[in-house]
Amino acid sequence: MRRVYMDHAATTPVDPRVMEAMKPFFSEKYGNPSSLYSFAQEAKKAMEEAREKIADLINSSSSEVIFTSGGTESDNLAIKGVAFANKKKGKHIITSSIEHHAVLHPCEWLEKMGFEVTYLPVDNKGFVSVDKLEEEIRNDTILISIMHANNEIGTIEPIEEIGKIAKERGIYFHTDAVQTVGKIPVDVEKMNVDLLTISGHKMYGPKGVGALYVRKGTKITPLIHGGGHERNLRSGTENVSGIVGFGKAAELAAREMDKEAKRLVKLRDRLIEGALKIENSWLNGPRKRRLPNNVNIGFKFIEGESLILELDFSGIYANTGSACSSKSLKPSHVLTAIGLRPEETHGSLRFTLGKQNSDEDVDYVLEVLPNVVERLRRISPFKKDFGEYEEALAKEQSHKH
Ligand SMILES: *Cc1c(COP(=O)(O)O)cnc(C)c1O
Repeated sequence: MRRVYMDHAATTPVDPRVMEAMKPFFSEKYGNPSSLYSFAQEAKKAMEEAREKIADLINSSSSEVIFTSGGTESDNLAIKGVAFANKKKGKHIITSSIEHHAVLHPCEWLEKMGFEVTYLPVDNKGFVSVDKLEEEIRNDTILISIMHANNEIGTIEPIEEIGKIAKERGIYFHTDAVQTVGKIPVDVEKMNVDLLTISGHKMYGPKGVGALYVRKGTKITPLIHGGGHERNLRSGTENVSGIVGFGKAAELAAREMDKEAKRLVKLRDRLIEGALKIENSWLNGPRKRRLPNNVNIGFKFIEGESLILELDFSGIYANTGSACSSKSLKPSHVLTAIGLRPEETHGSLRFTLGKQNSDEDVDYVLEVLPNVVERLRRISPFKKDFGEYEEALAKEQSHKH
């Protein structure tokens, strides 16, 4: 059976070239980068080269790149770290209602600690309004955190404009760029960001490694205290092999990303067009300013979880909205924020494409999907909520007789 992995927003396979680069750092070059003898300095050197590759990919200086355990830690460090370091200046934070939980949950926790958070609404395509954001800025606003692109519906936010406003008003600006770094150009200068989150395993690097870009001069407090590694912002012996792999992934992305993005856009649009031919379906998120690899389609009268299972039987790996929200039966906060009704959020399906996906994969999905949708609609538990569907079904039946 054909196997089609289309869940690259949840994680990506490690590129074989990345794996090769990592290997020596497990068994041969295992020194602790903090040790002074030459053997350990090899590890230190490899780590610093990786830092430069990450810096090059986002147009920063390597001294502004802090290695962490991944996107979640970077988001936590950015938000809590800036909040605590600047609390004398103010306790107000602005973010959006469609952020990843790695941003939303630290914000909610900070509210319990006495901070105030404004969660900006988004429009029906998932865009934050720059005007609305400007209106919400107060004298005590210390941080704005808006994601570069949304992991569920692919919306690319107007980061440059937001960054410009934040800069003018002297407010720190963080962006979660986990879904964009290595996929589309990211430039911390153009975007006017002070802090930017990256994750290794979303860009063909290993899991458990990431980075936070911290602009020089940013007031920030560490979350993890110890030996003072990573410019005192993240103590603990560094994940050298992971960092080396992450660096290699950044080097490859810098070289291959433009071509790959063009290829993915074609696959993406063909998948969108094909899926929308299925009756009673719609696209979640925008047509333009959308991640090159994101397809999110809603189907009426259907449950996403059963769609996932049915597709799984055919070797197709997709997702409902996001991997985190699919574990609970709570409707996706992103799909709710763009105005979908609960039953519509449950009928949404996300395909996120990647390096190994081909035209044949898209053909295969478009062959399997209509049949699966058709079959599930016949046994839909939502049928009762949709009087119109019952009517439509009845009409179809009578035509056949
Ligand atoms: C995956 C993801 C994260 C979390 O990154 P991890 O490295 O898995 O902790 C954060 N933000 C976004 C937008 C993501 O897609």
